[in-house]
Amino acid sequence: MATVAATEAVLTIDLAAVVANWRRLGAVHGAPCAAVLKADGYGLGAAPVGRALAAAGCWHFFVAHLAEGLALRAVLGPGPLVAVLNGFATGADGTAGLTPVLNSLADIAAHQGRPGILQVDTGMARLGVPPQEWGRLAGVQPALLMTHLAVPDQPDHPLNAAQAGRFAAARALLPGVPASLAASAGIFLGPDFASDLARPGAALYGLNPTPGQPNPMLPVVRLEAPVLQMREIAAGTSVGYGASWVAERPSRVATVAAGYADGYLRALSGRAIASFQGQPVPLIGRVSMDLTTFDVTDLPALRPGDALTLIGPGCTPDELAERAGTIGYEILTSLGARYRRQYQPA
Ligand SMILES: *Cc1c(COP(=O)(O)O)cnc(C)c1O
Repeated sequence: MATVAATEAVLTIDLAAVVANWRRLGAVHGAPCAAVLKADGYGLGAAPVGRALAAAGCWHFFVAHLAEGLALRAVLGPGPLVAVLNGFATGADGTAGLTPVLNSLADIAAHQGRPGILQVDTGMARLGVPPQEWGRLAGVQPALLMTHLAVPDQPDHPLNAAQAGRFAAARALLPGVPASLAASAGIFLGPDFASDLARPGAALYGLNPTPGQPNPMLPVVRLEAPVLQMREIAAGTSVGYGASWVAERPSRVATVAAGYADGYLRALSGRAIASFQGQPVPLIGRVSMDLTTFDVTDLPALRPGDALTLIGPGCTPDELAERAGTIGYEILTSLGARYRRQYQPA
């Protein structure tokens, strides 16, 4: 009985592709782009991604939480902007080098005299000062004025233009303050959505910012899981928990070392496609915690110890998300801590 050398799956993150995606987004935007590194760089590693982008000239970084900002500042050193989208309390320790996003009049008052980014709500109703309070913004001097689009992935939705119009009105109240409007998908909405600084996250990591159209971004993530065992089963044999898949023909089953505890979502049960040497490999049965089974009957060359590609060409994060009934963002931010991570240098 052969035992494979290492049982964990290998997650490969292409930092050169992240940097190329950042440059491409800047070219489409026609103005600078920040990088959004919240949730550990969408699961890919805020530290290595941040280092690679800073070395390429990226000077503005956004995270969600104070702790994320402190960690990123330690990685980047002084210099680049590190902004915290969810804001933080004044007096929190070690925040001198971080810039809070001010999301309310109370935030503005609390941080008076210190640098801050002002977020206005133009139609998402999530964070930011709502329009009925904009009359009280006169004299506020933020480092940046920002808002966030709710439906940039639906270019024809009327809310996009409505938000751009309201943002223009907010800008008119604070003349001379630089502005930040678009995230990944918004960059592709055209010149009405350009600003002094775009804030892409998803597209840096290879997710498609133009749903329904070819993906203009380079793929960044590859996940390869070794086959631990293979078995021949007779027609009528069931596979896995719940006996949810039953062989209709004599079949070969490969069991690989990744499961829902690794972020290979249980909702992919019976739905995902992996690949081997460019051939599609259907997932069969349920995804279990550490293991997943695939029908490799039509892949006679496959041997135990070979790796199936769970995320890669033919099974991109966006495609997996569609099969799992979610979005590529959730596939990336779920990527597990047990994978052996390797970074291709920028
Ligand atoms: C997450 C986030 C972004 C990045 O959005 P993507 O769609 O990943 O590009 C930008 N701005 C704000 C306020 C966000 O919350």
